[in-house]
Amino acid sequence: MKVEFKDVYKRYGKVVAVEKLNLLIESGALHFLLGPSGCGKTTTLRMLAGLEEVSEGHLLFDGKDVTHLPAAERGIGMVFQNYALWPHMTVQKNIEYGLNLRKLSPEIKKKRVTEVLGITQLTPFKDRLPGQLSGGQQQRVALARALAIEPSVLLLDEPLSNLDAKLRHEMRDNITRIHKQTGITTLYVTHDQKEALSMGTSITVMRAGRTIQTGSPRDLYTRPATPFLAGFIGETNLIPGVITSVNRDTAGTSITVDTEIGSIFSTNSQLKEPKSGQKCMISIRPEMLQIRIDPSSPEPSKNKLRLALDRLTYLGESEQIQLKHGSLLVRGSVFRPTSHMPEEGTLLSVGVEPSDVLLLAEETDLSSGT
Ligand code: ATP
Repeated sequence: MKVEFKDVYKRYGKVVAVEKLNLLIESGALHFLLGPSGCGKTTTLRMLAGLEEVSEGHLLFDGKDVTHLPAAERGIGMVFQNYALWPHMTVQKNIEYGLNLRKLSPEIKKKRVTEVLGITQLTPFKDRLPGQLSGGQQQRVALARALAIEPSVLLLDEPLSNLDAKLRHEMRDNITRIHKQTGITTLYVTHDQKEALSMGTSITVMRAGRTIQTGSPRDLYTRPATPFLAGFIGETNLIPGVITSVNRDTAGTSITVDTEIGSIFSTNSQLKEPKSGQKCMISIRPEMLQIRIDPSSPEPSKNKLRLALDRLTYLGESEQIQLKHGSLLVRGSVFRPTSHMPEEGTLLSVGVEPSDVLLLAEETDLSSGT
């Protein structure tokens, strides 16, 4: 089922929780709503479920206006952060519970319960009480219960936030597998960008009640529209600068920017009409910095900068390297740490490919989400 929000507002008195929301969730997508606390994610999800009234605008399911359709008639399955399982009912009874509210024959009920127990790999646990299950298993019961009603849309509100890191990883794989198997259009709300990047078929980032960008995980990571997005999805170095030259030829546009750490050349601009003298923001992902730790290795050839080593953090498979120039800190990472460790304060040569230097417009109004 395709879901569309058209110019939707949600107001609580003077508070505008959601502002002019235009959102398209394609049929069969695992669509993520991502954004900082208070940006309007849960409100959006609750409007979709019919648990909150839409103040203005339209909500469409497969092109049909359902803005005022009662929640019970929308065919929506929901999974919340706190699973909301009945503690005195077995896994099987918990799953059946949602079906009892619908007038289905005992045979159909039994078939559905058996099916979802299988999909969520809970068959061996069907006679246990929730208190006899791990957090991840309880999570799967909540998912099974939502799936049993064969929803047209599945809504997941921070479903993994009560689990520890290892279990969260496991459940990410589980949810992705179940989504592929069932093909149900799913809207997943989280503030965890790693969850969204690793699982989503599409992601919408919200800020202060508005959507600011929608795209595939790769689009959002490699082509963020604003400095806020660049820093919110993954880590990045944001360096302010002023454009000193713009060259356009058949290969594209190349731009030179004067910054506190030196002149930086970019062939990857998101600026609409770049001009000399214009202020902009440079975004460079830490993994894109080529840091010359070993003095016998070749000097970087492009965008050569000299930065002082400030701090090294050993992480096993990689090493985080904090570099410094005046008050500006620049983060890098090295995935094959060498045994050679320079002293703090050592000046290192650092390079970056012009295509890995993303130029963005300055953030004008941080509160408005632009
Ligand atoms: P979180 O990640 O912290 O759950 P969120 O992005 O889901 O946040 P919402 O719960 O949708 O954010 O809230 C959006 C805004 O609307 C917030 O400023 C919140 O304070 C406000 N809000 C939500 N519900 C109500 C309500 N019932 N009455 C008044 N304001 C509300």
